[in-house]
Amino acid sequence: MPQNARALAIDTEFADVDRRHHFEIPAGVIYLDGNSLGPLTTAAREWVQRATADEWGRGLIRSWNTADWVHIGQRAGDAIAPLIGAAPGTVMVGDSTTLNLYKALHAAIDLQPSERNEVITDVDNFPTDLYIVDRVCAQRGFTSRAMKRSEMLGALSDRTSVLTLTHVDYRSAEMADMLELTRAAHAVGALVIWDLAHSAGAVPVDLAACDADFAVGCGYKYLNGGPGAPAFVYIAPRWLGVARQPIEGWHGHAQPFAFAREYEPAPGREQFQVGTQPVLAASALLGALSVFEGVDVARLHAKSIAIAGLFHDLADELLAQRGFGIFSHRDGASRGSHVALTHSDGYAIVQALIARGIIGDFRRPDVLRFGIAPLYNSAKDIVALVEAIIDIADSGSYAQFRSENAVI
Ligand SMILES: *Cc1c(COP(=O)(O)O)cnc(C)c1O
Repeated sequence: MPQNARALAIDTEFADVDRRHHFEIPAGVIYLDGNSLGPLTTAAREWVQRATADEWGRGLIRSWNTADWVHIGQRAGDAIAPLIGAAPGTVMVGDSTTLNLYKALHAAIDLQPSERNEVITDVDNFPTDLYIVDRVCAQRGFTSRAMKRSEMLGALSDRTSVLTLTHVDYRSAEMADMLELTRAAHAVGALVIWDLAHSAGAVPVDLAACDADFAVGCGYKYLNGGPGAPAFVYIAPRWLGVARQPIEGWHGHAQPFAFAREYEPAPGREQFQVGTQPVLAASALLGALSVFEGVDVARLHAKSIAIAGLFHDLADELLAQRGFGIFSHRDGASRGSHVALTHSDGYAIVQALIARGIIGDFRRPDVLRFGIAPLYNSAKDIVALVEAIIDIADSGSYAQFRSENAVI
């Protein structure tokens, strides 16, 4: 079949970034959900094992110093920095993406004159981002303005305090123009916070070149940090020691172990810490990040573009006639790293695929989502996926998976 030859050509061309052997994906499973939960790496398992048995088990409390637990959030931040175009010392790992957005948004608003009383965001943003924007605006007496990305350039004004949006849309995978939007916001005096949840580890990001003010992102998606892995926050160098996040806990203090009565903000990224770091979870993330060493993210994205291009072509050729639509953004250069189809029976079809060991996910109302994580996914995986979808669709065997009461 011609698609097999094309898949083989892609996989051969990008053999240099194939890190499949670092991942412990169960035999018989094709994993296409790394955009939601990255799989286990051998390194993450070993780092957790060491942090547990050696550092916690034998080192006990001494490990805050001897294993450098005390800087684990900074160490993980410095491992993420090169993946997002950030300088060392500007990325802090800890808390969740949601909480980091809350902290960064308040900090950004505090840097602005009080006449600026609106926050602009993307109406199609991930729900948690929208909830946080709404809540922070309510706390501040601000207007929360959610709109289409295409409307933002015209809406930015001298009333805008902060523009915040997600770089890669979690449903369509469309990538926003980070440089253009950041420049436009700065031109009217607004600050910008980017959510890199679906970008970090999958597509090239250059926060420094774009001059972004803040960014947040997720540790458990393409970074493979494990379920509930700590997230990250980026603070532009010009805001270090200037911006101040509002949840003033002891680990954001200039001298946490002085146990001073009054809060004194740490001068660097440490001020964005709140309480004690989740050391075991951060160890898993550090292990997973070691797999990215020596990998060029632009190469990863090029591989993803090639694989997703094959997927889109096969979908046009073979799946459209079977009732599937293509929801993902078509242009590879401005697309993140997943492909989304639509089908009125999408939920049941995804369940039927999972029953065969091909794991993707479903997003209401009718979107079938397949992550392409170029460290371990191959074009061959996509050919197998499309063949399985055809088989399931033609046999109608997915009907048994229809459910009125599905949770996800
Ligand atoms: C996954 C995701 C999150 C997750 O937030 P957590 O608080 O870390 O669970 C936030 N924003 C976006 C855009 C996401 O895709």
